[in-house]
Amino acid sequence: MAQIIDGKVISTQIKDELKEKVAALKEHGIVPCLAVIQVGQDPASSVYVNNKKKACTYIGIDSRAYELPESVSQTELMELIETLNRDESVNGILVQLPLPKHIDENAVIQVISPAKDVDGFHPETVGNMCIGTDGFLPCTPAGVIQLLKRSGIEIAGKECVVVGRSNIVGKPMAMLLLRENGTVTIAHSKTKNLKEVTKRADILVAAVGKPKFITGEYVKEGAVVIDVGIHRNENNKLCGDVDFDDVVQKVSAITPVPGGVGPMTIAMLMDNCVKNAVSPKSEC
Ligand code: NDP
Repeated sequence: MAQIIDGKVISTQIKDELKEKVAALKEHGIVPCLAVIQVGQDPASSVYVNNKKKACTYIGIDSRAYELPESVSQTELMELIETLNRDESVNGILVQLPLPKHIDENAVIQVISPAKDVDGFHPETVGNMCIGTDGFLPCTPAGVIQLLKRSGIEIAGKECVVVGRSNIVGKPMAMLLLRENGTVTIAHSKTKNLKEVTKRADILVAAVGKPKFITGEYVKEGAVVIDVGIHRNENNKLCGDVDFDDVVQKVSAITPVPGGVGPMTIAMLMDNCVKNAVSPKSEC
């Protein structure tokens, strides 16, 4: 019987630990504060932003919401970020992606101070992660590492295969597995004989962006399978990049969708924010 890795339970554990830390910080007059900027009213983004606000409230983090109209200019958005960069009461700044087409996402990411980059997307933050310097970790991949560790799954020395090489998930995921001493392969759309590559994995992370792409044929008997994907099927039900029903018989452990990686992303965002209130990063 496969172990079902429960992201709801583990993310709640993390949030409860953070709640205690925040209560202790408040006794010293410190209140962590996360600024969340949303541009326009994309319904999916609104759901994500609301979930972040709820998590802040649960933990005791002060959340400040900035809801900007779809028509906001890049200059106006960047000026707001620069104001928040200078605001000493703000520990973390998050711009909800995607942004409208007229705004250059990369330019926006780069204007967020690396000292407050709780999403972990700024090039300086990414560089620090790669060289192993202490710093913010990208939330979804960091959440996967926590899922593995808190489920008692050893990473060191394991064959780890990550399918997907996006800047947000695949590449940082591979880097964090490497930091944990995994032997890491990154597969992508140009990978030849993908099934042979994925079948080498003791730990297989699917970040393909294609519903139920990873079937039993891609998975080695006894592997651990982590499903980062989130999709809505034709019946509006959530599913992942992994065909759970086909794979679950073969594996030793697996994350479900929903209730696997998804809840971890917000928990790790909160973790970044609280850590920065405990020991604020200074700008280089
Ligand atoms: P992207 O679309 O940016 O990247 C997908 C990656 O998969 C690319 O590197 C692509 O390769 C690779 N790929 C696509 N098709 C194939 C194929 N046939 N064979 C092998 N590799 C393939 O997606 P993201 O990384 O942003 O997200 C991945 C999934 O994770 C999505 O379902 C997304 O919704 C979900 N997600 C979930 C989060 C959470 O909190 N749980 C957070 C972020 C994302 P190539 O580079 O060659 O094109």
